[in-house]
Amino acid sequence: MAENLESLFGSDVFDRRVMKATLSTEIYQKLQEAITQGQELDKEVANAVAVAMKNWAVSKGATHFTHWFQPMTGVTAEKHDGFIAFNDKGLAINEFSGKELIKGEPDASSFPSGGLRSTFEARGYTAWDPTSYAFIKDNTLCIPTAFCSFDGKALDKKTPLLRSMSVLNKQAMRIMKLLGVKASRVIPCVGPEQEYFLIDKEVYKQREDLILCGRTLFGAPSPKGQQLDDHYFGAIKPRVQKFMIELNETLWRLGIPAKTEHNEVAPAQHELAPIYESCNIATDHNQLTMEIMQKVARKHDLVCLLAEKPFAGVNGSGKHNNWSIATDTGINLLARGKTPEEHLRFYLFLTAVIKAVDLYQDLIRVSVATAGNDFRLGANEAPPAIVSVYLGEELTNALFSIDLDEKNKKNYLDLGVASIPAFMRDSTDRNRTSPFAFTGNKFELRMLGSSNSIACANIMLNSSVASVLAGFADELEKGSNEEAIVKLIKREAEAHMRIIFNGNGYSDEWVKEAEKRGLYNLKTTPDALPHLVAKKNVDMLTSIGVFSEEELQARCSILLENYSETSLIEARTMVEMVNKNYLPAISGYSNEVATSLLNKKEALPNMKFKYEEEVLKTLTNVIEESKRLVKKLETLINDSSKEENGSKAMFIKDYIIPVMNELRIKIDEAETLCPETVWPYPSYREILFSVL
Ligand code: ADP
Ligand code: MG
Repeated sequence: MAENLESLFGSDVFDRRVMKATLSTEIYQKLQEAITQGQELDKEVANAVAVAMKNWAVSKGATHFTHWFQPMTGVTAEKHDGFIAFNDKGLAINEFSGKELIKGEPDASSFPSGGLRSTFEARGYTAWDPTSYAFIKDNTLCIPTAFCSFDGKALDKKTPLLRSMSVLNKQAMRIMKLLGVKASRVIPCVGPEQEYFLIDKEVYKQREDLILCGRTLFGAPSPKGQQLDDHYFGAIKPRVQKFMIELNETLWRLGIPAKTEHNEVAPAQHELAPIYESCNIATDHNQLTMEIMQKVARKHDLVCLLAEKPFAGVNGSGKHNNWSIATDTGINLLARGKTPEEHLRFYLFLTAVIKAVDLYQDLIRVSVATAGNDFRLGANEAPPAIVSVYLGEELTNALFSIDLDEKNKKNYLDLGVASIPAFMRDSTDRNRTSPFAFTGNKFELRMLGSSNSIACANIMLNSSVASVLAGFADELEKGSNEEAIVKLIKREAEAHMRIIFNGNGYSDEWVKEAEKRGLYNLKTTPDALPHLVAKKNVDMLTSIGVFSEEELQARCSILLENYSETSLIEARTMVEMVNKNYLPAISGYSNEVATSLLNKKEALPNMKFKYEEEVLKTLTNVIEESKRLVKKLETLINDSSKEENGSKAMFIKDYIIPVMNELRIKIDEAETLCPETVWPYPSYREILFSVL
């Protein structure tokens, strides 16, 4: 590393340090106020900030600027504008005004809006989010922005995330006031652990499915997969190490606190975890991390795969969303604390999260629903699709031993809050099968797919907890002595007990037990998505102002369409691969076998040639069956176009995906019989073990 970490970290970010150095004290203070209090910037401040930002960016080699935003595609978008302008003498000068900083008007008609915006009013607008610092990427000053329609409807993932943070702040602050906690803001904090695969670019380029779908659609298992667990935490290979060094440096320059890196369970699989940050910044940073992983990989002749299930038979990639809520005075509200008052506060917030997750399990499931993630959830490598909360035995017992019945009441009142049970921090989670585990001082939502934006999951966590806290505050504002708080904790914990599960989430017994408890088991994306617009969820999300009903309807339809289109692209890719390459290869090779069989029979008429006969029979069967399945698939793909959005997704799930699975089995069977020299695509062994 050329520079030391201190000068490197954040060197491409227009952060507090740069603001302080380049703005007048007055402007700096006004900007800070606007940031912390979420106020609008006045014109004078905006102009001054714009000039300072532009001068700083130009001094670092930037020639363009862009409003960087997160449309519903799930990836980030940017449209670059040059700083260039002509002055009255016709000379090119650098220009960038406060107006350009604060607001952009991209022609956004090609972004999914789910019907929120018709083409005649295609222009959306982007608005600067000053809580996320501007940064330089590829000679372009990137300004993090929210993206809305002209009448203020959210067309992106940042807007509702900011709304959810604001409502969580508002409701949690009511509780802070009741508890007498010194704080002026409450902020959700997130640390997302990101898994990914790294494979060789040359191998990648030969796989149509990887290029078009980001995952393999065919491939027989490699003789060695992840059976030996020798990759997990194993020594990092030199080529991967070089990639990681450059990745870290690039992320650090952007102020992204990448911290932990290690090999994961599957061959060629790795993980990167940053230090946690405020939810909004963590979301921006995770989007950037995913983008930069892919870019840096290419520079090393590698390809970074972020698909949830790139290879059958080995673990797919997910993302763990570590989530907590903290005050601006540094108190983690999910940490147990030391004093009895802190214990009581902890149990109150813990109970709020439990209630929120129980009431809105389906929204949490929706927030991680994508076509890719359907292959992981419930497949014994990632948590089940059933949402539950893991607390660990000790904490569960402690929570339920908060008691105020007649027998204990006197005792409790005598002792005051000191009777709130304590638990040992370190005894919590090492149960990796839980979708939502309490891990000492935070919750870890482990259901996200590796390519998911973390925005959706955090919108749902923040919103559901905020709505529960609102109810708690309503109740406690009528009288918030310790007795009332304990009563509330006890009542709510008991009412929502069914969501707590400390056992093995992968087991079949849990599926049955969860059904008995009345928990949702929304196995696939088409099963889950309609819950986004279920009445109870619409009521909650609209009442706290995170979404309007129209925005929810739009999101639901965008997500359904995304599921359908992703699956149909995969189905069509399969058809093409089978027709153009697999069948000709298998047919050609079986012809060779047939010729050799005939020759041998002629040479040795009394001998049997079992090997050739069996191979020929099997391959002939594969050819016939595959052809039949491809035809069926083509018909179904055609038929699907007659279905509407929601029923189309269901149709694909019920009819198309099962045929894709059957087709895959046939082709993979042939792969085990054909020599590598005739096989048209690199094998799993070549892909997974290609990087040395
Ligand atoms: P692991 O889950 O692998 O045991 P850690 O628990 O140390 O690892 O941390 C995983 C992630 O959780 C990291 O990104 C870390 O910054 C984040 N994290 C730690 N504490 C908190 C917290 N209070 N709130 C949110 N995220 C946190
Ligand atoms: Mg973890």
